[in-house]
Amino acid sequence: MRRPFVAGNWKMFKTVAEARALMVELLPGLMAIQGVEIVVCPPFTSILPVAAALEGTSICVGAQNMHWEESGAYTGEISPTMIAEFCKYVIIGHSERRAYFGETNLTVNRKVRAAITYGLNPILCVGETLSENEAGLTQEIVIQQLKEGLDGIDFTSIASPIIAYEPVWAIGTGRAATSEDANHVIGDIIRRELGQIFGDNLAQEVRILYGGSVKATNAGEFFSQVDIDGALVGGASLKPFEFIPIVKAAVG
Ligand code: PEP
Repeated sequence: MRRPFVAGNWKMFKTVAEARALMVELLPGLMAIQGVEIVVCPPFTSILPVAAALEGTSICVGAQNMHWEESGAYTGEISPTMIAEFCKYVIIGHSERRAYFGETNLTVNRKVRAAITYGLNPILCVGETLSENEAGLTQEIVIQQLKEGLDGIDFTSIASPIIAYEPVWAIGTGRAATSEDANHVIGDIIRRELGQIFGDNLAQEVRILYGGSVKATNAGEFFSQVDIDGALVGGASLKPFEFIPIVKAAVG
């Protein structure tokens, strides 16, 4: 049995004061929900205050990105050791990083390796763009992202590896994939490919999320699909009246 998992990606929103205020609004509702693993991924500046707000709860903190080197002359970057002081998870290869910051399957691979080295659990994002989707290339793109992103990686050494299928055209657009299509990509393409790379036992254990315009009104549909183990939630994770019901829906 795969435990449901819901992560909130706050993107580049919330000052420290706003992050603290959001945690005050989120915490009572989230703490009342059992049976789902919850992760909050604020911007770097708010990781520490959010971690402090979550102390003593089972809700974890995640980072949205990191560099792969442990330290060095990389102005503006944050290292895995810095993240690992406060975070259990790190989002790697989000489509916004791929689109705006030159992230490639090669840098994704370096970051996944670094995450493993420093005891972080990667939330590896994959997904096709609209033009790739329309050209019928979803399977090819997602498999390539998995093969190259996970090349040479020992998935068995990660305590809690997570994959997020996030079709780029569904992120922040209000146009979610259908739950059937998402389940097809997750079950028939991603889980099957993980089986090819790492063996079926591991593929059955890895939690795979859907992400892309998940809201309180559509979350239940996604979670009712057999291969969808949870969600990576962007915009709606900043709204307690959306995020709390989404997390509740993951319990079933
Ligand atoms: C995301 O940022 O990973 C995401 C899925 O965004 P949204 O839920 O806003 O589409």
